[in-house]
Amino acid sequence: MKLIDLNRDGGIGANSLYVQIGDFHLVIDSGLHPKKSGRQAAPDLRPLQGVKLDLVIITHCHLDHIGSLPLLLRDQPDVPVVMTQPSRMLIERMLHNSANVMTREREEKGTADYPLFTHEEIDRVAPRLHGHPFSHAKKFPGARDDIEFILHPAGHIPGAAGVEIHHKNRRFFFTGDVLFNVQRILAGAMFPTARFDTLVMETTRGVTERTPGQARSHEMIRLVDTINATIQRGGSVLIPVFALGRMQEIMAILHDARKFNKLVEAPIFASGLGLDIADLFDQVARKTGAVHFTRTILKDLKVRKSPRDLVPGKEPPQPGIYVVSSGMVVENTPSYTLASCLAAQPKHSICFVGYCDPDTPGGRILATARGDSILFDAVNVKVKLRCQVEKFELSGHADRDELLEYAVQSHPRSIVLTHGDPPARAWFAEQLKQQLPRTKVVDPVPLQQYQV
Ligand SMILES: [Zn+2]
Ligand SMILES: [Zn+2]
Repeated sequence: MKLIDLNRDGGIGANSLYVQIGDFHLVIDSGLHPKKSGRQAAPDLRPLQGVKLDLVIITHCHLDHIGSLPLLLRDQPDVPVVMTQPSRMLIERMLHNSANVMTREREEKGTADYPLFTHEEIDRVAPRLHGHPFSHAKKFPGARDDIEFILHPAGHIPGAAGVEIHHKNRRFFFTGDVLFNVQRILAGAMFPTARFDTLVMETTRGVTERTPGQARSHEMIRLVDTINATIQRGGSVLIPVFALGRMQEIMAILHDARKFNKLVEAPIFASGLGLDIADLFDQVARKTGAVHFTRTILKDLKVRKSPRDLVPGKEPPQPGIYVVSSGMVVENTPSYTLASCLAAQPKHSICFVGYCDPDTPGGRILATARGDSILFDAVNVKVKLRCQVEKFELSGHADRDELLEYAVQSHPRSIVLTHGDPPARAWFAEQLKQQLPRTKVVDPVPLQQYQV
């Protein structure tokens, strides 16, 4: 198998891998870098010049995996795109939202090459996007060579898949983003335990040690306790979330707490995209059973759309629980504005429930000591950080020991590290060298070709 990482920055960015198996040409994922802007946020597609792709496979619908898909398809007018059935139900909404965000950014910041694609273009490529059931082998004939693929449930978010590919007597496996643990609305990953020739694995949590006593159930209780204490002292709670997956997971947790009278009364707010995705989850649940979520959760909680008239740096007009995107509190998002509103007052809380890149505003809030200054430069607000800041171990990614264990049991001839910051990849590289001394471990340099 030949492999080129098209994610020009390495790390967790615009995830996209160009893979050549025999004479079969394949791209897995086509993401958009969450912290970059313009054409630089998309993968570098130069290695695909003159290549006619046979297939594109999407692992799941987070934007760092799909956000540049229409761009990729522009130069590949015939290639089909496959994904799981839940992903097929979610992908168009996510892409349309991405086009909206890019258009807004062009207006606000003058980013010249945004939007990278239009709503019309999404509609035009939609007939080429195909849903495929989980765990069913599918033979796929290319122009000059054939493969067989199977999409395995990867936990993480509804629709997320690990991709197994067979070619002649070779087996390859791509984990995508994976969580082995059960979440409130989603079963954990069910990955094959076979021996692979090549394993391509995510490494998001390579520097996060497993902390004893932080079982998910305990963390859920601690989250609800923190919310209750904040509301009771007259404060508001910000829970920054990804609109896809994390938002609905938190709502289901709040719903359980409310059902057992463990959650105080307070208005609950969410962003528009999160509410739309919740509706789609309701449909996914009824059609495929791949997620445990119903619209009644939001109805029972009386969730409302987050107010649009928040003024950066000022108290929100209504105290409450704000479950809004983005998860990493990036600029020009509801969670960013709200963080600037809550940061200065000790009565408020910001509760992080997922991964935050250290180089994002969310990462900086986590790294700032209480009483130190923090700058929200995009809205020109500088305050002393005095609100309560908590981090909860409710990550959507497998912890490093579980992933390492999975890699070791599958005993591949080679392992390719993806989707992690350099120190995270380095930890995996070091551990794998010790535990699988005969396995070739590749931490790919972007745009270089590897034979694995
Ligand atoms: Zn993801
Ligand atoms: Zn990802």
